[in-house]
Amino acid sequence: MLPEIVVDTLVILASLFVFFVGLAALVLVVLYVIDRTQTTHAIRRNYPVIGRMRYVLEDLGKFLRQYMFAADREEMPFNRAQRSYVYQAAKNLSTTRGFGSTRDIRPAGTVLFVNCPFPTLERDAVETSPVTLGAESCPRPYSTASIFNASAMSYGALSTPAVRALSRGCAKAGSWLNTGEGGLAPWHLEGGADLVFQIGTAKYGVRDAQGRLDAERLREVAAHDQVKMIELKLSQGAKPGKGGILPAVKVTEEIARIRGIPPHEASISPNRHPEIDNADELLDMINRIRDITGRPVGFKCVVGAYGWFEDLFEAIHRRGTGSAPDFITIDSCDGGSGAAPMSLLDYVGLPLRESLPMVVDLVTGYGLRDRIRIIASGKLINPADVAWALCMGADFVNSARGFMFALGCIQAMQCHLNTCPTGVTTHNPRLQRGLVVADKAERVANYVRHMHKEVGVIAHSCGVPEPRRLRRMHARVVGPDGRSRSLDEVHPLPVPGSLL
Ligand code: SF4
Repeated sequence: MLPEIVVDTLVILASLFVFFVGLAALVLVVLYVIDRTQTTHAIRRNYPVIGRMRYVLEDLGKFLRQYMFAADREEMPFNRAQRSYVYQAAKNLSTTRGFGSTRDIRPAGTVLFVNCPFPTLERDAVETSPVTLGAESCPRPYSTASIFNASAMSYGALSTPAVRALSRGCAKAGSWLNTGEGGLAPWHLEGGADLVFQIGTAKYGVRDAQGRLDAERLREVAAHDQVKMIELKLSQGAKPGKGGILPAVKVTEEIARIRGIPPHEASISPNRHPEIDNADELLDMINRIRDITGRPVGFKCVVGAYGWFEDLFEAIHRRGTGSAPDFITIDSCDGGSGAAPMSLLDYVGLPLRESLPMVVDLVTGYGLRDRIRIIASGKLINPADVAWALCMGADFVNSARGFMFALGCIQAMQCHLNTCPTGVTTHNPRLQRGLVVADKAERVANYVRHMHKEVGVIAHSCGVPEPRRLRRMHARVVGPDGRSRSLDEVHPLPVPGSLL
């Protein structure tokens, strides 16, 4: 005979079991009736209850694909091979592989570097040379040797710990951090990194009550010694022609205060600077900002229509080369960490592989190559991407998503929802807990150091002593016929000043 207490427990368990099985059966019957009688979804009407699995699997698919089904080099926007490089570099692990490359080098557009029969010996390698911006235009020029830097990501789009880790990590590695258009937060300053302050179309952080540029607030921002340059954003990758979007759920009291906007309301920037309607007005604004701040000033844009560059460079020569922007940041149409409508994300603007050589050629042809520095950004997260951009003529490379991967981003693609599982783009304190600032700052620094080292390795293999000596002749691109051609044959560089 079983003890009474055991019998009672078994009876309770059996009753619970019957209750839950009955409840589950009832739920299934209700779902069956709902699915059979609804008129919106054909699958659910034809396959009641079971048809619902489709939605569940579709939702889970985007998370599971990258772990279980996608091959190393087939995902977008970044495949596993690209991400793995960043994760390993950030963790300071070896990026060496065995048994050959898994990269298919046959498709048109594939870039291959031209190794020299007599590569640069380690003893002949030299440090990356510094470049100075604004030497002839402003009282406080900026000089840096860092070829790889953190691109614009606003505080608001990024979480507090993410900005803190970036600030500290960039400081350790000697690269700059672009604040993005969300204003200057104390977290940007915390680590001591050089900062590029970005002014977007809403002038967050430096706006007056009407949303116009407030000279006094801008002067205060530029008074920080860490703020080395100012970038005026005309457009950004992923959504050229549309302003920044920060959903209401991410506009906390602190973010609203820093931006100069009401809290808990969606923060949507205008799709253009209202006061800039042509090349001359762009130069007016650049020179006004430079006069206020005394810092090098440039602009960022995604290239689409490009005839206006000629107007711009002609206006510069008319006014004098001192009036030129100190740099131009070219963003790729497929760049961008921000939320964007699919119609712009997928279809508007030119990719960097087209726009970068085009702008470098124009700047060279107008004899402004030493006056205007070129910063390339957009999906350049691995050393070969950076080396390609340098070959094309970029002076610097910026990356946003590369740094997000270094912070631990797993490409869950929910950045705009405040539910980022890694704490990078959420203001939910529970999720932010996962991002440990000290640890991720070290990863950011490691990523930059590895990047510099491995771009150097490519440069040495091509026979030059440092990355800034890479030229178009050092890389080839595979054409539609399967044969590669030198980049300087595909994109011949004009004679300096020949377009004047
Ligand atoms: S993990 Fe996902 S949500 Fe978080 S930053 Fe990366 S892509 Fe965005």
